[in-house]
Amino acid sequence: MSDTPILKVAVNVPLSREFDYLPPASGAVPAAGCRVQVPFGRRQQVGMVLGLAADSALPAGKIRRCDAVLDDAPLLSAQDLWLVRFTSDYYHHPIGEVVAAALPSILRQGKPLCPRVEMMAITAAGEAVDIAAIASRAPKQAELIAALVDAGGDGLEANVLNEMLPTWRRSAKALLAKGLILAFEARAPEMDERLAAAREPGPTLNDDQQQALSILRSSDRFGAYLLDGVTGSGKTEVYLQRMHDVIKQGKQILVLVPEIGLTPQLVDRLRARLGIEPALLHSGLTDTARLAAWRAARSGAARLVVGTRSAIFTPLRNPGLIVVDEEHDLSFKQQEGLRYSARDLAIAKAKHLDIPIILGSATPTLEMLHHCRNGTYKHIVLPVRAGGAKPPTLRLIDTVRAPATDGISQPLADAISKHLDDGGQVLIFLNRRGFAPTLICSSCGHIAGCGRCDSRLTVHAHKQQLRCHHCGFNRPLKEQCDECGEIVRPLGEGTERIEESLLSRFPGFVIRRIDSDSTQRKGAMDAALKSATAGEADILVGTQMLSKGHHFPKLTLVGIVNADQGLFGTDFRSSERMAQSIIQVAGRAGRESRAGEVLIQTAFPENKFWSTLINGGYRQVTNDALAERELTRWPPFTRLALLRSAAHNRADAHRFLEVARRHLATSANETLRVLGPVDAPMARKAGRHRAQLLLQSADRAALHHALRELRRQLENDPAARKVRWSIDVDPIELI
Ligand code: ADP
Ligand code: ZN
Repeated sequence: MSDTPILKVAVNVPLSREFDYLPPASGAVPAAGCRVQVPFGRRQQVGMVLGLAADSALPAGKIRRCDAVLDDAPLLSAQDLWLVRFTSDYYHHPIGEVVAAALPSILRQGKPLCPRVEMMAITAAGEAVDIAAIASRAPKQAELIAALVDAGGDGLEANVLNEMLPTWRRSAKALLAKGLILAFEARAPEMDERLAAAREPGPTLNDDQQQALSILRSSDRFGAYLLDGVTGSGKTEVYLQRMHDVIKQGKQILVLVPEIGLTPQLVDRLRARLGIEPALLHSGLTDTARLAAWRAARSGAARLVVGTRSAIFTPLRNPGLIVVDEEHDLSFKQQEGLRYSARDLAIAKAKHLDIPIILGSATPTLEMLHHCRNGTYKHIVLPVRAGGAKPPTLRLIDTVRAPATDGISQPLADAISKHLDDGGQVLIFLNRRGFAPTLICSSCGHIAGCGRCDSRLTVHAHKQQLRCHHCGFNRPLKEQCDECGEIVRPLGEGTERIEESLLSRFPGFVIRRIDSDSTQRKGAMDAALKSATAGEADILVGTQMLSKGHHFPKLTLVGIVNADQGLFGTDFRSSERMAQSIIQVAGRAGRESRAGEVLIQTAFPENKFWSTLINGGYRQVTNDALAERELTRWPPFTRLALLRSAAHNRADAHRFLEVARRHLATSANETLRVLGPVDAPMARKAGRHRAQLLLQSADRAALHHALRELRRQLENDPAARKVRWSIDVDPIELI
């Protein structure tokens, strides 16, 4: 045995194992957390060194050498690697793919942490020229000279010039030849600790907030604090104060938010109140901007890091606090590939780092409430709205007695008129975009379906299209039935139809639709939210996008058009979800001096769900749901995992799961229940047949043990080659 260490390397391939390599023939041995370039099969791959070992299970001659070490110092610290390993173990996902998810794409590709960037600058000769004289012959050249003169000695990045003067390269040629400008390379600029303008003071906290804050201040060590406060109760004010303490201690804060595009108000507030420019990490950034923010978090220059779910993997040099805002939001769970919950990883990370984590919500999940009852998390309640705003009142409209035309019943229409006359703003909520969810033939009853999914095509009137919301398929909208040639008509309502119906009922008022169709253009979402906040729009129509954390000062009425979708849901979480979405959207009403009103259209006003929600509020809904789940042994009283498979034909998808079921039977464990295989609720999607096997156990360790064995067996099973399969731990939807 020589004393050359063996590198344990994670490679981005769908296999659980780590791979053994020798360090390069010359140069220093890379430390854990450095990237290496390795031969893998016939290709080259970027790998991450996870650790060093004295020996390998492979015979010495079989171990390949890595070709290059890509980092002088570890990119990921021991703590960051801990999170990567934990994620891989907990979600039973290949470690190389977890590393890939944890790195910005530039680093995943093996490029340097501090890339060299192409720069242009003015020369002394260039500064001396007469720009006006050049402008008359070659206006583009003059523009480039002027821009570089303005930039001074530091010059400008080529990337920046691309945005400013898209055709600058053509002008640059001549100017470079004449020595008026020069090109060079520089290190990408670092994001330094950026202070925003002076810190703005906040309101004086009320007693409930004060008490919440003192509990949060009681320790700088690990503790999970559920800040459970009704909408507008001042949760954000409480976080802000606690965050300020942490900033003063010189430590970093990570804030996870559902979607940055939907919460510009929160980002503005953090900036203003903490006096710090946050480093933002979200999917809308360019790769270079993302890397810059990641670097700033890693170096500690960014004191405040605000991001969506994948930001949980961002290295922090000196972390002091994690905040998860709107803990209940579904977007914290990734629903494809590495199916992780950023909220749950945030808790694990805080525990490992021994720092506090605050989870905020007006509608906390049953999982968090259950932990609070157990005493593992601390429950902090803010029961009333801060600053004197009243809670909104909820009322039902029975659509059997008062039928809706084009989605709006007479009582709802009357209420809209009244609120508009009083100068209020109105929000109409429904969770369906497009014009109508169904196109039906008035003669033969044929319904337009998607050829690749078990789903109906949605009518989109603006684009004159039929679209599948599951696979993206679309085709032009026709007026005749495919089957019999008779006239077809749209059935049911989507946001477009409600918008149209409101336009004809309330002429002269400004109506704004906000859904993923209307906000596709860059900046459209921001503009729509600004106009909603400023009160320029009288009526807002939209999907759950509108329910998230916004503060629309003039909003006094919320109308929920079709609330019945969730009443008879098949998922055991249906009622919890529905209560969350109603309470969240209701929470947009009456946030200032004028009281808010919420009207809910339902064809089933007698359903027990409504009396529970209206009389007992979200608290009662969750108390009932917890009691029921305890009886029926669903989470949070048991743990679930789903094994999913998809194949071109149904038999393959099922056969694979049968194989899995047999493997599970051999690792016999009496606490483990295995249900299925069954078809997925939407069995065919995008041309593939989908099936699933549900694993359930009250014993978390037993479940994970079974999953670990199962994964190992399936990776080597020939049945796996015919299907796409995945494991989903703590699934949030059983589909
Ligand atoms: P939440 O995060 O619970 O929705 P916010 O912190 O956004 O609540 O507060 C809701 C509104 O009430 C904001 O306009 C905020 O400025 C105001 N507010 C919060 N706390 C107080 C307070 N103690 N006194 C007066 N106004 C407050
Ligand atoms: Zn489809």
